[in-house]
Amino acid sequence: MNTWIALSCHTLMDEFGTLRAADLRYSLNHWTRFEVRHSLNGPYDDDFIVPGLPVEFHCHSIGPYDFTSMTSCNLRDINYLAKAEGILCIPHCFCPITGSITMVLSPDILLDNSTLRSAYPSLEWIFELLIEAGIQPAFGHFVKQQPVQSTEYVRTLLKVAERLVDKVSKHPFLTDHLFNDMPRHFHHAWRTPQEKAQRTNDLKNMHIDNWNWDNLDEVLGEVPAILLRAAREGYLLICLNFDGDHIDLEICRRIVQLLGPDRIIAMTDRTDCNQLGDQKLESHYGNSLRYQNESVLAAGSQSIDQQIHNMRDISLSEEQIWKMTCFVPSRVLNIPLETCTNNPPEACSYVSKSGERFPIYSR
Ligand SMILES: [Zn+2]
Repeated sequence: MNTWIALSCHTLMDEFGTLRAADLRYSLNHWTRFEVRHSLNGPYDDDFIVPGLPVEFHCHSIGPYDFTSMTSCNLRDINYLAKAEGILCIPHCFCPITGSITMVLSPDILLDNSTLRSAYPSLEWIFELLIEAGIQPAFGHFVKQQPVQSTEYVRTLLKVAERLVDKVSKHPFLTDHLFNDMPRHFHHAWRTPQEKAQRTNDLKNMHIDNWNWDNLDEVLGEVPAILLRAAREGYLLICLNFDGDHIDLEICRRIVQLLGPDRIIAMTDRTDCNQLGDQKLESHYGNSLRYQNESVLAAGSQSIDQQIHNMRDISLSEEQIWKMTCFVPSRVLNIPLETCTNNPPEACSYVSKSGERFPIYSR
């Protein structure tokens, strides 16, 4: 773990992504001065402090701890590993445990051929109950064959969100991985060496800079389009992976450009283990993903820091990066970030001029 004996820095990115002049001095586990002043204008390339840590949202394992079987996990050790990396780690579990904040649910359980269709009360009832209990349902795991029907179910559920949006403090819904596990009209990732050889040409022919709010249904498909529109209207937050292998980074760049970073959470889908539950995972040459047998995509392997570097490679701004990796997910998790009171949060990040990040903890 990086520990700082002393540090002084003159810039802070506040919880709204604005860089501010500041007088920040840290010595031996304490901030001896934490004074935040006026906002700064213009291009900026100095070091700065962020009042929080990046969040590993949707993480399957850290070190040797596989969250599929939480019973064999030691939360204290997991916390230690997360602290050593200077991240907040949100274990993605397959069975709900106390403290669940989100739950992946497919609106497709209402499809005619779904075995779950008659086994449960109405979908609206389930979603409303979860939202009122403070749990954000995440839309995901759509089947690919019935996009019109899937879109209709999402629309039904958005009416629930419309009804509840003033009563809840958070966005009612999230998504699981945007573009993965849903019907799409476009090629979203080039993963093998053969595919990668075609990438530049394919991307050129896709004209992604022409994607706009009017043609989204046509170019992306009905399901991703309705999810992005719902995000723009404030009913949900989009979870997007920036490892470049789940979704191509050029496509991610365009989505950030269209929607803005305030409605996006960078999710890693990270696993450090070669196993998820009783499923052995394998790697394929040319990408960082982990697969179950028969090449079923199971998870990613890149950390949030690696994804932050990827974001810089596609020229996203520090404001966009820190909103998606820290400020937006921290708000979902009710982690306080406020800096206007000049009170330093317990954990901050120091970002050096070269873009390296170091956690700073204070007591
Ligand atoms: Zn996952």
